[in-house]
Amino acid sequence: MSNSRQRIRLFLVLIAFLALSQDGVRPHILATVSQLETSPLRSAPDLTEKAKPTSETLHLDSAPQEDGESKAAEQTLRNLFREAHFSEAILIAQNQLRSETLSVIYKEWLREQLPTLKLGLAWQFIRQGRCEDAQSYLEPAQKGNSSALALKGLGYCALKRRDSYAALDYLQHYVEKNPMDPESYILLAEAKESLGLMDEALQLTQKAQSLETLTDEERDELQHREQKITAKLDEVPAQGEISAGYFLLRFQIQENQNLVQGSLEILQNHVQNLVQNLGFEYPTNPIEVIFHRQDNFNRSTHGPEWSSGIYDGRMRIPVQPQQILDENLARVLRHELTHAMLSEQARHQFLPRWFQEGLAQFAECPQFCLSYRFAATSQRFLNPEAFEQSFQQLSDMEAQLAYRQSLYLILTLNRQYQGLSGLKQIIQQLPQLNVMSSDQILSQVGSDYRSLYTLASEGWTQQKSF
Ligand SMILES: [Zn+2]
Repeated sequence: MSNSRQRIRLFLVLIAFLALSQDGVRPHILATVSQLETSPLRSAPDLTEKAKPTSETLHLDSAPQEDGESKAAEQTLRNLFREAHFSEAILIAQNQLRSETLSVIYKEWLREQLPTLKLGLAWQFIRQGRCEDAQSYLEPAQKGNSSALALKGLGYCALKRRDSYAALDYLQHYVEKNPMDPESYILLAEAKESLGLMDEALQLTQKAQSLETLTDEERDELQHREQKITAKLDEVPAQGEISAGYFLLRFQIQENQNLVQGSLEILQNHVQNLVQNLGFEYPTNPIEVIFHRQDNFNRSTHGPEWSSGIYDGRMRIPVQPQQILDENLARVLRHELTHAMLSEQARHQFLPRWFQEGLAQFAECPQFCLSYRFAATSQRFLNPEAFEQSFQQLSDMEAQLAYRQSLYLILTLNRQYQGLSGLKQIIQQLPQLNVMSSDQILSQVGSDYRSLYTLASEGWTQQKSF
């Protein structure tokens, strides 16, 4: 970059900084980032998609010699299976099993196919982020001809609900049966990392790289992971660990011991706050929080340099040696905790970015940040699509604007309802939603994205404060 361009850039950043400061919102808070859409299990679509069974990769056994009626019954079942109507196929199969006219030999075959049908349905749920629904179909699917894939599903879902020991157990069994699936090593490495076994996590990542069947993209992703784990490994010798309430906190013993007690208190209180006032569910398993050495943070996360915290399935916060627990750090903790709980509430499905970041900022204050003081600014309201995608694609300036305006959208939404009732209703309904589009989540309060966007952008243009 040339010197003059550098100066212009610095100037623009300075302007942005001043504008933000005037609005009474700390720039560094705006710079926190959630990597939900790049969280461990989503970051390499190929690695995760390739190994997720579908009706094309699963198969039903060939049926024995049959009479005409059984042949027709089998055909019905195969058609449903091929079109991935697993739920209907299971119902039909159960009806056929009760039939008095179908042959015994056909029904015997049918009984053996049931686990495969259930496996298909289970993975359909998993692809929709519905591990809880998948669970009851994965258990019986272990008896079928694709039992390994049931183990993988069980391991994957255990990891999602942060039950690391169960995940380890299922995935180790899966790897024994299917040692050529690179994703299984990644999932196993994730479980090891949660258990603090970074050495083993590194070995697994290296082992996956030695598989001959890898694509270039998979190899890149694995190398990327190896670098990040190596960086985290550097911190391990000086790291302490404490388990308290809903949290498992890792920190630098020498440098950050002073932060532990107060941080845990802030986090515990904020869980109560989010549950009682915004309708969140309590975390089912401990949320991991890691205080990274500031100089190691970017190496460990590969997040943007301006980030002051990341949620990538774990809350990662960069801290300085002997840093004190001030309100700035408290806000970062509340912000990332909101991402963590929101991710769980949405069953790890992707939520529109404006909702995630708006709500995380809204929840930075102990009793929620309800006010927004407007400073004179001519920055336009971004177009509606910009709020739905990842802000990491935007320029720094636009990203910061997108953060502020996301908060503005949430505040506009909140103002339409008594107290916090609108937001609470939306959050309470999240676990039941299969599609998490802006329109879907807003339909829970009888609204839609177009109306909210219009209202917010008009307010912004008229510089209305809250
Ligand atoms: Zn954020």
